[in-house]
Amino acid sequence: MTLPFIDLQDVHKAYNVHRGVFRAGKLLHAVSGVSFRVPEGSTFGLVGESGSGKSTIARMVLGAEAATSGEVRVAGQSVATLDRKQRFQLRRMLQPVLQDPYSSLNPRIRVAAIVDEPLRVHRVTEHGQSLKDRVAQLLEQVGLSAETMRRYPNELSGGQRQRVAIARAISINPRCLVLDEPVSALDVSIQAQILNLLKDLQERLRLTYLLISHDLAVVSYMSDQIGVLYLGQFMEIASREDIIANARHPYTQALMAAVDSTIGEEVGRVGNAVQGEIPSPLSPPSGCPFHPRCPMAEERCRREKPALRAFGPSHQVACHFAESTR
Ligand code: SF4
Repeated sequence: MTLPFIDLQDVHKAYNVHRGVFRAGKLLHAVSGVSFRVPEGSTFGLVGESGSGKSTIARMVLGAEAATSGEVRVAGQSVATLDRKQRFQLRRMLQPVLQDPYSSLNPRIRVAAIVDEPLRVHRVTEHGQSLKDRVAQLLEQVGLSAETMRRYPNELSGGQRQRVAIARAISINPRCLVLDEPVSALDVSIQAQILNLLKDLQERLRLTYLLISHDLAVVSYMSDQIGVLYLGQFMEIASREDIIANARHPYTQALMAAVDSTIGEEVGRVGNAVQGEIPSPLSPPSGCPFHPRCPMAEERCRREKPALRAFGPSHQVACHFAESTR
């Protein structure tokens, strides 16, 4: 069996939140017992509302934050045990693409210097190629002309900026991209173009993707496996096909109802979108974390936390009544 490229086992992340001089600190559980594996060359999509723990998981995978407990492994190595040199090598294998191309690119630096910076930091050159030729090749790979290298980010459209950010991310031949809301700042008409570019690059460069989005349509368009997060816990994990045709958790069904883009047309817009706000992770609900917003909640849901249960070889659901939710 091939090793997964990313492997999280029972990962927890808690922050001590200080609440003023006279009040004791409180633990904020951002991620609670998350496990999943991402085989090399595949896409795992993490979906959930803001505050569900998606970005915290991404930061732990990137080595920017340490797990409180559990294990995060990347390319077979435990991230917690890496020394400085190994962390530098990890950064070469794993590159982030962030949400907002308006703020993630320095407006005072020309595109050429933005794209070639990782090449200079990691001292990567391709077969004697000059930096300029490599930048031109990278821009061409993401659908931009070589002339773009002379321009500043504010001279580009949102879609072009995100293409520059992707060119920069693939410049040092990473094995994996961590895509944190890669299209949420873009017009809907541009979103599909960027997602198709990412799909095309994945195939050509054999990349592994960890994709983070609040939009189930985006995640289901891109992903092989999908994990639905709520208050730092998985509500449902399944293949893309099972999520589209056989979603069992009321929260997944509510996310499907909230889909409002034309991406991922297969995602059925059934049922009602989730009402109300996600509770604060500082005072999570008892029992099932989703019970205050769940239209199917019963007394048992308030008392007893549901375990993730298997509903097929790669389908798990955390709901007491998952048998009768469809
Ligand atoms: Fe809703 Fe209860 Fe299932 Fe939680 S366990 S999702 S509250 S029905």
